[in-house]
Amino acid sequence: MKRILVTGGAGFIGSHLCERLLNEGNEVICLDNYFTGSKTNVVHLMDHPYFELIRHDVTHPFFIEVDQIYNLACPASPVHYQYNPIKTIKTSVMGAINMLGLAKRIKARILQASTSEVYGDPIVHPQKESYWGNVNPIGQRSCYDEGKRCAETLFMDYRLQNNVDIKIIRIFNTYGPHMNPNDGRVVSNFIVQALKGEDITIYGDGTQTRSFQYVDDLLEGMIRMMNSRDGFWGPVNVGNPIEFTMLELAELVIKLTNSKSKIIHLPLPQDDPTQRQPDITLAKKELNGWEPKVKLEQGLVKTIQYFDGLLG
Ligand code: NAD
Ligand code: UDP
Repeated sequence: MKRILVTGGAGFIGSHLCERLLNEGNEVICLDNYFTGSKTNVVHLMDHPYFELIRHDVTHPFFIEVDQIYNLACPASPVHYQYNPIKTIKTSVMGAINMLGLAKRIKARILQASTSEVYGDPIVHPQKESYWGNVNPIGQRSCYDEGKRCAETLFMDYRLQNNVDIKIIRIFNTYGPHMNPNDGRVVSNFIVQALKGEDITIYGDGTQTRSFQYVDDLLEGMIRMMNSRDGFWGPVNVGNPIEFTMLELAELVIKLTNSKSKIIHLPLPQDDPTQRQPDITLAKKELNGWEPKVKLEQGLVKTIQYFDGLLG
């Protein structure tokens, strides 16, 4: 049994991770300030004898004894991370410094939930880890993209300078149950709109692409990375390489929900990446042949069931 700290543990991905780590026989400490996460995401874990929930903001130092730290605290949806951009960048940068400082002191292994956004609006396609990206440092998305890039730098420097045992994964668009219905990300928006019979809002002409990964596939990759061999710290892409346009996604959601919703087009937000697809060669090699198993249609059906229950 390991003692594991999950920052951002009451969020969408964090809540699934806490549950899975508990099911695997670990003790889990979930730390969250509830900015975008919620106690309702982890309420079913409260009675577990090895689960502990702590309200804390990672921009402030935190002291605890654990074996492993998963650093997930950070709003991930453009709507939420742009709401208070200074706080977003503080969360990424000061959160990384505080958690790396903790890892250094207690000699814990620490994994950073980085993002495909470090590639910005990529010119190289699909994206390999060796690509440095195409990021606007002064745009609306910069607080998130540059915060996450700086966090990667901090992770690498703590390894070099202080020998901290780090792991970095670059997560590509992930979806599933426990997404916040007001999250603003495309999968939750389209499903909620389709279930309510509201217009499906495509930003721009809908030809931009994303590669959608179901949350269970991400968890498998993330946990394999945390427990990967000494001497491998990444960064490693964890995502589903099958790429869809937003138009294709909208049509699939309408079909699966049997909805009468109509598609409408709204303006494309600033710096919205036109295409995104992970090259997962490195993940396959280093993470024991890891690859995504859940097809978009299967994952959407499970996510639709969740939102259907939530919306009543
Ligand atoms: P989410 O918004 O559901 O979860 C983030 C959690 O962090 C929330 O519970 C929030 O309350 C908490 N949080 C935010 N600021 C905090 C702070 N200052 N102190 C403590 N807690 C704080 O988002 P998610 O999709 O679950 O993302 C989790 C992590 O994975 C994030 O770091 C995100 O950048 C990364 N990621 C997610 C995706 C994706 O597609 N979902 C893609 C790439 C990277
Ligand atoms: N998007 C959309 N309609 C929505 C929400 C998002 O067309 O209601 C588009 C958005 O412009 C982007 C893609 O869907 O091109 C993915 O957006 P999301 O916010 O989910 O993630 P990110 O842009 O961070 O990959």
